[in-house]
Parts: sequence; C-alpha cells; structure tokens
Amino acid sequence: LSTWSAVPAGPPDPILGVTEAFKADKDPRKINLGVGAYRDDNGKPYVLGSVKKAEAFLESTNPDKEYLPITGLPEFTKAAAKLAYGADSTPLTTNSVAVTQSISGTGALRIGGAFLSRFYPHSKTIYLPNPSWGNHTPIFRDSGLEVKTYRYFDKKTVGLDFAGLKEDLKSMPVGSIVLLHACAHNPTGVDPTPEQWTEISDLIQEKQLFPFFDMAYQGFASGNTTRDAFAVRHFVSSGQQIALSQSFAKNMGLYGERVGAFSLVTADPEEKARVESQLKIVVRPMYSNPPLHGARIASTILTKEELYKEWEGEVKLMADRIISMRDRLYDNLVSLSTPGEWGHIKSQIGMFSFTGLTQPQTKALAEKAHIYLTADGRISMAGLNGNNIDYFSESVSKVVK
Ligand code: PMP
Repeated sequence: LSTWSAVPAGPPDPILGVTEAFKADKDPRKINLGVGAYRDDNGKPYVLGSVKKAEAFLESTNPDKEYLPITGLPEFTKAAAKLAYGADSTPLTTNSVAVTQSISGTGALRIGGAFLSRFYPHSKTIYLPNPSWGNHTPIFRDSGLEVKTYRYFDKKTVGLDFAGLKEDLKSMPVGSIVLLHACAHNPTGVDPTPEQWTEISDLIQEKQLFPFFDMAYQGFASGNTTRDAFAVRHFVSSGQQIALSQSFAKNMGLYGERVGAFSLVTADPEEKARVESQLKIVVRPMYSNPPLHGARIASTILTKEELYKEWEGEVKLMADRIISMRDRLYDNLVSLSTPGEWGHIKSQIGMFSFTGLTQPQTKALAEKAHIYLTADGRISMAGLNGNNIDYFSESVSKVVK
C-alpha cells in the first residue's frame, strides 16, 4: 500500500482552473478572462518599457547573486513604503514604519497574517469583505486567524452595500481585524468613494478595529498611484496604525518575479526596530530571505527619476486601455439590445468587472463561445482587446437573451 493512498484529490483552484480549461480549448476564437494579468491590445503579455530599461541598467552594473537580508533589499522596501504612504507622511518622516520585502502580495498577506496571529493582542478574527479575492480565506486561515466576513457587495444594484457594510463594522467585537482592499476591489471592481472611505475610517477608529489594507493594484484603478493610495493615506493621517500588503505584480507587470512588501505603522523608531526583529523571526523559517531580481527592478524604477516618470505613464496606459474596453463593452451591449442594466461595467474600477452573469450563463459562454471566466461572473477586463471585444459582446448578448 502506498504511503499516500489516503490523500484525497483536492478541488482545482477556482481561478487558475479557468486557465487550464482555456489552454485545453483549441478553438481560435477562445478568450481567457479568468486570471487577472494585464494583456496588451493584441492579447499578449506586456513587459513594461521601464522594466526593460531597469533590467538593462542592472545588467550593466554586473550584479552579484548573494543572499538578501531576511527583510529584503533596503532600497526597495524604503521606496515601496514611500509609494504607498507618501514621502511626507508622519510614519515615514518619523521613521516608524516596520517593513519587510515579501513574495509578492500573497506573501505579504501571509506574513501579516502570521504576525498578527502571534502578536496582535486584541483578537484573532479577521473580517473579509463578501466577496473577496478567493485566496484571502485560505491565506488567513493557514496563518492561524479565524476568518469571518462583512457585507460589501449588493447584488441588486451591482454596487457597494454601504449600509450593510457600516452595520457590520458597528457590530464587530472591539479590536477585530478588518481586511480592506485599498483600491480596485477584487472581484467586484466596486470601491467606496473618498467620502465613504472617510466614514469607514471614522467607524473603524471609533470601534477600535484594526485595519489591514491589501493594496494589490496601486495605480490600476485610476491610472494614478497617488489617487489610488487615498484610503491608505487617509487612515494613516487620521492617526490609525495600519497593516499594509503591497504587490508589484500588476502595476509593474512583475507577476512571476514575486515582488511585494508588508508593513506596519508603529509608534516610534524603537518600536519599529522591535517589530522588525519579530518580522524577521516570522520570515526566516518560511523562506529565509526573498528573491533578488524583481526587487532590484522595482527599486531601480522607483528611485531613478526618468524611469519613474516612464513607469507612471505606463501605469496610466494600462489603466486607460482597460477603461476604454469598459466603454466599448457597455456601448456594444446596449446597441445589441442586451436585456438588463449594464452601467456597472463602466462604473466599476480596476482589472475586474463583476458582470452579473449567472453560473449557467458563464458555463454557456465556455461551452458555446470558448470564453472562459470564473463561475461568479467576474471577468478580467485586461483580457479584452480591439480584436475580441465585438465577439465577446455578441456572445454575452446571446447567452443573456
Ligand atoms: N490581493 C488581491 C486582492 C489580489 O487580487 C491579488 C492578485 N490576484 C493579490 C492580493 C496577490 O497577488 P500576488 O501574490 O501575485 O502579488
């Protein structure tokens, strides 16, 4: 008898499973709208010009392949914190942000979960928006936290359930941890307005809840990294100590390089040093130290003025292409007299749109039109382009009719 004969087969990953089905389909019209990875207008992966230049520059410096420190490349973590908090923010000017490099956003969330599970004194429960990115629940559960949800999305309006969200925040036990998507909420594409963020921030502060921001799309929502940092900066300027996960997968197109950061706002440099010493103790037995190459690319872009400017332009270009696809999809669906209200396609933000398509409709799209999306009706807008938008619109219109 084999040692592993009792291991049951696990279910396929709900998002990455879509890519597998797409790959197996041989129809030339096929479209993959499952995974959230940017594609250019020819449907091809896009390596940013700023990234290529940063790599060429790095090559010219003849870099070594030594280990990084446990908390990563210092120039990178410093620049990442500056991008998120703003150079003039109190935590940065007072040197009180504890930060570590991470294996992209996923790793940042996992380090944060593990750190909170070990040291957060008030609660071991984290509340996620309903719905949230599918990996949040297993990440936090495997980090040792209990996972609960708060109301976020209103199916009827295909928008934010702001009243439900506020009620749920008010009824959470004092000290609970609340996960917030900093911008470009995944999977819904529905973000609070700045006014709503201000109310959420006040409520969280009053109830002494602990805000944990997941910022996987800074720049992708509006095309501007400063505007997309509004929520994070507002909470921090109101005096709240936040936890923050950052990913450079989307905004620098560094998906497979795994570049991210986890940070905590602390009281002062002495506390920051204590917290960082414990972050090291969390990281060391997980993977010892993070990968070099992507962090070097990101820190080069973030610290060289010319490359930074070029990158800002490229972030805007990606965001704008997605926004233009939203406009075209909306116009097409309306001109095809597709039953239903489609305004949310345009008002939603970021990489994704929660279309409102039902499970049977998404199934029909795969079987009849070779179009692949997650069963919840989420589409990655970045998978649409000038060549497939009309075919996609017509196919959606047909399955809805
Ligand atoms: N958080 C959210 C909300 C995401 O959508 C993603 C990527 N899909 C991540 C975190 C982490 O991605 P990565 O580990 O590739 O940075």
